[in-house]
Amino acid sequence: MVLPVVKFGDPILRRRGDRIAEVTPEIRQLVADMFETMESANGVGLAAQQIGRALQLTVIDVRGSKERPSTLWIDNQPANPESFMPLVLINPVIKPVGPQLKEPEGCLSFPEIYADIQRPGEVEVTAQNLRGESFSFRAGGLLGRAVQHEVDHLNGILFIDRMDSTARRDWQPEVDALQSATKAKRNGR
Ligand code: ZN
Repeated sequence: MVLPVVKFGDPILRRRGDRIAEVTPEIRQLVADMFETMESANGVGLAAQQIGRALQLTVIDVRGSKERPSTLWIDNQPANPESFMPLVLINPVIKPVGPQLKEPEGCLSFPEIYADIQRPGEVEVTAQNLRGESFSFRAGGLLGRAVQHEVDHLNGILFIDRMDSTARRDWQPEVDALQSATKAKRNGR
């Protein structure tokens, strides 16, 4: 089922997600709905907060973005990012590695807002999968960026927080308008 994507101005986007103790049928259904929602919005990643649930859960699929390559290492061996997709990260923990890179980013909770965001170029990730098993990998390129963007969501951090001061100032009117529209909608006005 395609769920409505929560937009900026909804307080749940600022909530840190609760750790998932057990992968229940409800969580599996939520993951299926999150993939459907992300695909229908042509997104690369979606965090639980963006469908109204504050949980340590995100889904990612970079296969739609051919023009922005991803890199992947599993057990220190290069691996094919495409065959690693779609990706479900439960209770992810990340460690940034590699030099900082400034590259374009958008967010389904901020329609029509894009900016270059500085982040470490690669990230080491440990998470659980849908079977509750722990797994680890190292990602760079678009996948590395997507993981960092989504894990930020799980901690209530948004990409506007990481914009440089110029981008933040340039986008302030749009961000304010989005926040007002979301609040008005929530109040049923
Ligand atoms: Zn986002």
